Amino acid sequence: MLSEVNTSLLPYNTFGFDVQATELIKIENKEQLVNLYENGFFKSPFRVISGGSNLLLTQNIQEPILLIRIPGITQKEETDGYVLIEFGAGENWHATVLHCVKNQFFGIENMSLIPGCIGAAPIQNIGAYGTELKDVFHSLSAYNIQTGKFENFDLQQCQFGYRDSFFKQQGKGKYIITSVTLKLSKIAKINTQYGDIQNALIQKNITNPTIKDVSDAVIEIRKSKLPDPAILGNSGSFFKNPVIEKSLAEKIQANHPDLKIFPVSDEWVKIPAAWLIEKSGWKGHKRSHVGVHEKQALVLVHYGGGKGSEIQQLATEIQTDVANKFNVHLEFEVNIW
Ligand SMILES: Cc1cc2nc3c(=O)[nH]c(=O)nc-3n(C[C@H](O)[C@H](O)[C@H](O)COP(=O)(O)OP(=O)(O)OC[C@H]3O[C@@H](n4cnc5c(N)ncnc54)[C@H](O)[C@@H]3O)c2cc1C
Repeated sequence: MLSEVNTSLLPYNTFGFDVQATELIKIENKEQLVNLYENGFFKSPFRVISGGSNLLLTQNIQEPILLIRIPGITQKEETDGYVLIEFGAGENWHATVLHCVKNQFFGIENMSLIPGCIGAAPIQNIGAYGTELKDVFHSLSAYNIQTGKFENFDLQQCQFGYRDSFFKQQGKGKYIITSVTLKLSKIAKINTQYGDIQNALIQKNITNPTIKDVSDAVIEIRKSKLPDPAILGNSGSFFKNPVIEKSLAEKIQANHPDLKIFPVSDEWVKIPAAWLIEKSGWKGHKRSHVGVHEKQALVLVHYGGGKGSEIQQLATEIQTDVANKFNVHLEFEVNIW
């Protein structure tokens, strides 16, 4: 088992914070987890990192960290209509999307270019451009660190919600996801209704888009709007879009007719966190090492040489300001360590 002691986590977090880990253990197969269990490893606190693209590191990490790098792509079932493919938790998400695009397996092309690994995708039910993981999810395998047994979870058991799942709630810290099986359509199902996909295709004179056209359009749009973590440290959207009472949203809208409201139920609606942050004057805000991205108010950025606590401080100030101005609580999407 590969293990590094007193090592920097700089290569393992997209914010680019240089904090130290006391021990980093690379997990490349399921048996290693069983060995750790048998040696009593899970009796003490530990942490899990995959791609480190949904993490804010504010301090050195004393607990051992498991770096999940379990590979594998296994086709489990195929009919005329769909394929079931099991992906090892350590497979890169975007590489997985490209694999599916190449093989004409429909369903995840709208989630092109999301950083991170497959094993983390169910944790917050990743989503983009009108698609969420749950739409193509079949099942997953996870190691229960309390019993030392592998368990299978189906769609219902995962309790997926908006950037939420069983693994962020009751299951938090109790399971290590080792593989995820997706059910992908072999019948063309293109969804270009969301965001700017349609416009991007029109600009290229594409009227009958292929799966690759959609994936390329999403990649292009994301590259134009979101900072590349290799150049500017960030963790994507720092805040979740708040779900609030319809009456409150209508009250805000009475003063701000440009507020977009998305119905969730009869009484609840979702409103864009980016709009709240921008209206509160934070978009493009810069202070020494950190700031709010100039093109996307949801994205907090690290210009280099800073500390995770500076991002945390900025995020908290934004949260307080939005609450004072609009009476809306912004929840963090990013995991803070
Ligand atoms: C530029 C950019 C754009 C982004 N765009 C989007 C987007 O459009 N939509 C979206 O939903 N997200 C987006 N994200 C957020 C992020 O990419 C996703 O949340 C991604 O799924 C995180 O994967 P990861 O492997 O990096 O997870 P990590 O950051 O390593 O881990 C995230 C959490 O999951 C836990 N975890 C990780 N792996 C496992 C495992 N195998 N078993 C148990 N627990 C585990 C960790 O302990 C941590 O709590 C974006 C991030 C960036 C930097």
